[in-house]
Amino acid sequence: MGDRETVAYVALSHAAYSFDGEYSYLVPERYRQVLKAGMRVLVSFGRGNNRVIGLVTRLGYDDDNKHKLKPVISVIDKESLVTDEMMKIIFWLKENTFCTYYDAFKSAVPTGFSYKVDMHFALVNTYIDRESLSTEEAEIVGFLESCDDAAEVDKYFDLKANPQRKKPLDTLIDKGFVEEVPSFKRKVGDDSVKMAVLNDGYEDADLTPKQKKVVELLEESGSASVKELCYMTGCTSTIIKRLCEKEVLRVYEQEVLRNAVGELGDRESPEDIVLNDEQKMAYNGIMSLIRAGKPAGALLYGVTGSGKTSVFIRVIDSVVKMGKTAIMLVPEISLTPQMLARFKVLFGENIALLHSSLSLGQRMDEFKRIKRGEARIIIGTRSAVFAPAENIGVIIMDEEGEQSYKSDSNPRYHARDVAIQRCGHNGALLLMASATPSLETFYHAQKGRFHLFTLAHRYSDAALPKVEIIDMQTESAEGNDSLISRKLADKLTETLKRDEQAILLLNRRGFTTYVSCASCRQPVVCPKCNIPLTYHKKNDRFMCHYCGYTMDNLAVCPSCGSDKLRSSGVGTQRVEDELARIYPDARILRMDADTTSSRYAYEEKFKAFENHEYDIMLGTQMIAKGLNFPNVTLVGVISLDKALFTGDFRSYERTFSLLTQVAGRSGRGSKPGSAYIQTFVPDHYVLNLAAEQNYDEFYAEEIALRQSLIYPPCCDICVIGFSAVMESRAIAAADHVTAFIAEYLRKNKADFPLRAIGPAPCTLEVINGRFRYRLILKSKNTRCFRQMIAAVLKDFGDNKDFKEVRIYADINGDIGL
Ligand code: ADP
Ligand code: ZN
Ligand code: ZN
Repeated sequence: MGDRETVAYVALSHAAYSFDGEYSYLVPERYRQVLKAGMRVLVSFGRGNNRVIGLVTRLGYDDDNKHKLKPVISVIDKESLVTDEMMKIIFWLKENTFCTYYDAFKSAVPTGFSYKVDMHFALVNTYIDRESLSTEEAEIVGFLESCDDAAEVDKYFDLKANPQRKKPLDTLIDKGFVEEVPSFKRKVGDDSVKMAVLNDGYEDADLTPKQKKVVELLEESGSASVKELCYMTGCTSTIIKRLCEKEVLRVYEQEVLRNAVGELGDRESPEDIVLNDEQKMAYNGIMSLIRAGKPAGALLYGVTGSGKTSVFIRVIDSVVKMGKTAIMLVPEISLTPQMLARFKVLFGENIALLHSSLSLGQRMDEFKRIKRGEARIIIGTRSAVFAPAENIGVIIMDEEGEQSYKSDSNPRYHARDVAIQRCGHNGALLLMASATPSLETFYHAQKGRFHLFTLAHRYSDAALPKVEIIDMQTESAEGNDSLISRKLADKLTETLKRDEQAILLLNRRGFTTYVSCASCRQPVVCPKCNIPLTYHKKNDRFMCHYCGYTMDNLAVCPSCGSDKLRSSGVGTQRVEDELARIYPDARILRMDADTTSSRYAYEEKFKAFENHEYDIMLGTQMIAKGLNFPNVTLVGVISLDKALFTGDFRSYERTFSLLTQVAGRSGRGSKPGSAYIQTFVPDHYVLNLAAEQNYDEFYAEEIALRQSLIYPPCCDICVIGFSAVMESRAIAAADHVTAFIAEYLRKNKADFPLRAIGPAPCTLEVINGRFRYRLILKSKNTRCFRQMIAAVLKDFGDNKDFKEVRIYADINGDIGL
């Protein structure tokens, strides 16, 4: 038996970054047949010999040392949850996003039923030398031999009630006479309808240990049904209610589906879609890359309405017919009900869905269907890039420039980077698509690193909408104080008269952006974040969108006591009121995060709008992209100026994309469309290029700017962020790290180019009572550079002086907030 692997390398679930690693454990004889990399095991760790769950990253031989190693206590999984390829991705995530192995593992595997672990004990079927046992140990062995009632055994080993049994029990386990048998409770059925998700800024609320458990589970899973939450954390629904009141999370109703894909309607065949010449050219080019079976990247750059989806469908169909699998990523599942419905009709049960508004049970089931090869088309949001599919032919990223593809919490990966890795392992094609690609992707397409396919015309050959910019300064100078310019108002009247529909966009939810005092000029701010609060008309309260703090409406200014409080800024509710006043007969649909907390709310409302049950759809960013309503001929942008000036180097790119995309919602059918952009900065070149829908020119301007200021794609950028309750601690930590880096560079004689900016306060200096500082590093993202960042984080994690300071490192993410 000497040739069987005897040592398991285990990454621990509770490891902090500074001591994360692969720890060696001895594989006991009885597990040598079954244990594989990618299974979870129970091991003991540290001085207290605490039981911890770990992931087996590799198996190996270490015959010299094996007698010194602690044994694997038990094996949790019956089969490996991680394919060999995904194990490589876990290692890649660890190196590239500075997370622990286990964090990487958790993002690759859905939070399953394994959350609640109960420990049971049983005799190992082996010869026990009684002479070697102490009295206490012998007593335990005797008990186990005589008792075969599981509940009795559990009661006997309730170590809280019988603490004296812990020590002899541990010894017996170490000697290999007793084994720990964990049981992992399976979730309850999926009949629950109440779903919970975390609110923004939940991180810093004061929580009881039980509440913390709930929050941790939600952090891992994104959302879960209330029933599952209670079940897996052992909490009562009262605790969920408390968390709801604290605004840590919110609960919404969700319709129950038997499977995630939902009911199937009449089937159609993908082959019935006839591509036009442009689409055919793109399709042929894409397929020849896929057939070549080598890792490759391609950009499908197609104007809005050019029919990129039709190309995806034909590509996916062909890939599946080749016997391969396809992953299609979308930025946000709730924005793609139309696309999903189409895919269901075309591909039926071959589709698996992976996204965060599924219940945990559904996610687990979809994961298994993919792993077994039962579903070979995977559609989902960012984390679906980790789908356990094998033999991948293509990974499609629709609207590849969208922010939601970058995770801004641990692990801080970009789906594109992970997709590139997976395509590398599978000899697959990464197909990115957009009318407004990210600067990075277009740059690489220009340089020839990605293949470029262009769809220059709308499918229906309709013209792109005419876009006009309206100067709101002039409006107000000429006496129009309304939120809606005279021109846009006239156009709305005409559109409604023709029985056509309109989409109006603005970039804020809430009734007004903020309330300020006309006497002392102070805005009403959040006491925890110092950011202006947003007034919400529906409940007549102020809310902080960063930390969830809420406060009653005020009669007088909290700073000076004056009663001259006035509101400024625009929110969807206020525009809705104004529209209702101007067009009393129009049916108005308001779409924002306040009216649509669940996926099904979106679907229903979009459906109703499509059926012309509404005339005007008013909403935030969420309605700007991806939707296809042929009867919409007017798009109005009420206000978007703020988006231009967020302080992030991508704010122009994002504003340009948003405006181009929302304009592109107009005139997609047979009738010509138009769009109007209201602004206080009518001469701004980004707005004007967006009005022309001139991406090429915008790209030229923007890439020149990035080159001169040195920003991605001309370099990589790493933000090291710090936060602490005491400002002085955050500053001290940032200074410490800055000094550490200087020293590191000197010691290692590092000669890579590096520029540091800061440390300086973040744009939002305080969120939820924590002061925030950041250090920005511009460099090239090489292995040497990453080693340095890893060293920074290790040193920091080991440093007891900064226990209360939080740190993170993020490569090529946002620097805006
Ligand atoms: P994009 O995603 O590029 O903005 P869509 O994929 O939504 O565009 O297509 C725009 C419209 O053109 C849709 O109504 C779609 O049904 C139609 N369309 C595109 N390609 C075809 C095709 N090959 N056959 C029939 N209709 C098509
Ligand atoms: Zn005042
Ligand atoms: Zn706040």
